[in-house]
Amino acid sequence: MKKIAVFPGSFDPVTRGHENIVVRAIPLFDEIIVAVGKNVQKDSFFYLDTRIDFLEKVFQDYPTVKVMPYEGLTVDFCRQENAKYILRGLRTSADFEFERSIGQMNKKMYHDIETIFMLSLTEYTPVSSSIVRDIIRNGGDASQFVPEAIAVDLEKY
Ligand code: ADP
Repeated sequence: MKKIAVFPGSFDPVTRGHENIVVRAIPLFDEIIVAVGKNVQKDSFFYLDTRIDFLEKVFQDYPTVKVMPYEGLTVDFCRQENAKYILRGLRTSADFEFERSIGQMNKKMYHDIETIFMLSLTEYTPVSSSIVRDIIRNGGDASQFVPEAIAVDLEKY
């Protein structure tokens, strides 16, 4: 059976931290689905289509990585896609506490799911989509924090 992992997030926008987690996870799975949440709770800065376009550009040279939108529970999306793994990145102890409860609740809801955590590289630990958004909103240059493939696209915002 194919080993499929879902890497869920808002990716508003995708950062070098996200890119690095996916690239390092490629050898572990037959397929990685970068699942872009529509996230009813927060209004996104970038439209869903833009967030997806950025991700497709970033991972265009990786045939085992695909990008899909989803809504609803991550575990329901995993069931639908036959994915038995959820991939998440960990930067800090705050990430860990947050991820621990989600991971444990997901396991309760879908017994066959395993959440796999990868530690961020030290250079990407401070990088977050929210800080990238703040830089863009305030007219700064966020290019060093986003994947090279989309740095030029961000100049438009
Ligand atoms: P969410 O809205 O679910 O927090 P994000 O798009 O912010 O989604 O992040 C998706 C995943 O990527 C999460 O597991 C998050 O911890 C991880 N992540 C975010 N930024 C980084 C980074 N700089 N390095 C490693 N992992 C990261």
